[in-house]
Formats: sequence, C-alpha cells, structure tokens
Amino acid sequence: MPTDPEPRRADGAAIPALSLRAVGKRYGGTTALEGVDLEVAEGEIMGLLGHNGAGKTTLMSLVAGLLTPDTGRIEIRGVDTGSDPRRARRDLGLAPQELGVYHTLTVRQNLRFFAELAGLRGRRARARTEEVAEPFGLTALLERRVSALSGGEQRRVHTAMALLHRPKLVLLDEPTAGVDVETRARLIGYVKELAGSGTAVCYSTHYLPEVEALDASVAVLDHGRLIARGTLPELVRSHGDSAVELTFDGGVPPLRLPWPVTHGADGVLRVHVEQPQLATTDVLAALGESVRLLVNLRVVQPSLESAFLHLTARELEAGRHG
Ligand code: ATP
Repeated sequence: MPTDPEPRRADGAAIPALSLRAVGKRYGGTTALEGVDLEVAEGEIMGLLGHNGAGKTTLMSLVAGLLTPDTGRIEIRGVDTGSDPRRARRDLGLAPQELGVYHTLTVRQNLRFFAELAGLRGRRARARTEEVAEPFGLTALLERRVSALSGGEQRRVHTAMALLHRPKLVLLDEPTAGVDVETRARLIGYVKELAGSGTAVCYSTHYLPEVEALDASVAVLDHGRLIARGTLPELVRSHGDSAVELTFDGGVPPLRLPWPVTHGADGVLRVHVEQPQLATTDVLAALGESVRLLVNLRVVQPSLESAFLHLTARELEAGRHG
C-alpha cells in the first residue's frame, strides 16, 4: 500500500505522528476526557499511564475512530480525523483492550484475514503473516484454532494483527495484560524495533517497569485530564519521591523527626529526605531509643512509580479540596 512521504510543515518542521488539541469526551454525565493537548512524534513510544477509569481507552478509541470527540481536534500525521477520517487512519494499527480475534479460525486465518482487510494481498499477505508471527512466538501455533489457545496466546494474536500492515502509528491498549514474562519481553523488544523504524507507538499499561524497559516518554492521565507529559528522567526528577523507609516491631512508635513523614501500610514509616542513601545515619540517630524497635530500613530512590503515585495523589488531594 503506498504511504505518504514523511509529513513536514511548510517551515520544514516535522509534523507529529499524532496530535490532539483540546480533546474532550463525555459519556452522559461522566467526563472521560477534558481539554487534552498531546503530541506523539514519529518513532516515539509514549507510555500512557493512569489509574482505572483515567481515560486511556477513551483516548485510544477517539484516535482510532471508534468514538467521536465532543470537543477538539485529532490529527494523524497532519491529517484531520474529523474531515478526512479514511486518509488519516490509513496507517493506523489498533490493538484494543477487548480481544478481537475469531475463535473458530486458525491463527494463520485470523492474520490473513486482517492482512487482507489492511489491503495486503497474495504473497505479501502470506509473507507478512509469517514475519509478524515470529516475534510473537506464534509460528508453531499458526495452524491452531484460536479457541484452542490460552488467554495470553490469544492476546499475542490480537496484538500481532494490529501490526500486519506496518502502521505508522500504533495504539496498544494494555497489550501485556495476562501474558507471561517471556511474551512481555518479546513484545517490548518488538515495539522498540517498530519505533526504531519510525513508527509512533501509544502504549497504555499499568506495569510501570514496562515503560522503563521501552525507554518510552510518559503521559499521565488523571480523571480525564493530562496531568504530566515528558521523558522518564524529567518526570522522575521533578516528581519522583526519595525516602528512607522504616519498619518497626509492633508499629510506628511516637517520634519527632525533622523531616516530612508519611505512614504507609503495615506500620511502615516513610521519611522523605533527599539523597536517602546519605541520610540514613542522620535518620537512625534521630530515632533515639526507638532505634531498638527497628526491624527493617529501606532506601527508596526516586522512580517512575514514586513519581506516578506522587502526581496522582496530589491530583486527588487537589480534587478533594478544590
Ligand atoms: P482502565 O485502566 O480501567 O482500562 P481507562 O483509563 O482506560 O481505564 P476509560 O475506559 O477511558 O478509562 O474510562 C474513562 C471514564 O469513562 C471512566 O469513568 C469510565 O467509567 C467512563 N466510561 C468508559 N466507557 C463508558 C461508557 N461506555 N459509558 C459510560 N461511561 C463510560
């Protein structure tokens, strides 16, 4: 299938693979997305993060054309999805959360069917079926009926189907939900290869280490609003929390410490300090007699997980007080 040359603006600047401007969507009385501005560059992997119900699937469904935005504008490679939906989505690959595989067909038949839907014919369709099966570990399963595959294997078929026509923009909605460790590692390798060849990837997940393994940029949705966007190091630097975590025998004793603290589950006390690896001696000294009750001490360095929890907790607080 012919593809457009790499799109550029009149001034020579690259046009993003995906651009959302002020996008909003409501379901009845529920605001699923509000005022979302977002760009994904060619060859970029964007990890889309957010708690359950944050709006990730809604965002992907809008980009894919399964839903229509109430407000705003979505462009794929510079083409407006509202005014020219067919051209805009010609180079789009989508693997939604809900599995879309035909159970009575074999893996090969499923892949061939979707290859043909994407405009591939004959030898090209056959070749792509084999090519895409390989990194997903489906080669040995090609003649098996999908109904006779495990849940994780079915998800692999489902994700492979989205990639048959070498799309320029891929939307993967929790592609590793329920798959095993090996498949996850393979998928991550394949997504990185795809991005290396210029494909932009929107990848939603609840497994934050995957975002790190993908070396993805991050977008955080919270209650339908985009609350953070940046590279991993940027987010971790500006929002990652560092602490010395203390566990005491019989729960946290009364303490007066010169640092901010938070109480975690199971009697764990988090003492928020910068450079926690250097602060442990000071923290131990400040415990006084209570140090004898200490059963565990852990240095917590800033991480994506702490940045994510910090960001979404802050929004929760703002929501409560706002
Ligand atoms: P998850 O991580 O659980 O998959 P998500 O971030 O993908 O969540 P969405 O599925 O986009 O979240 O949902 C966003 C909000 O819209 C939620 O409050 C959800 O309850 C609501 N919602 C989603 N689909 C519908 C629908 N068809 N009708 C009514 N409300 C909906």
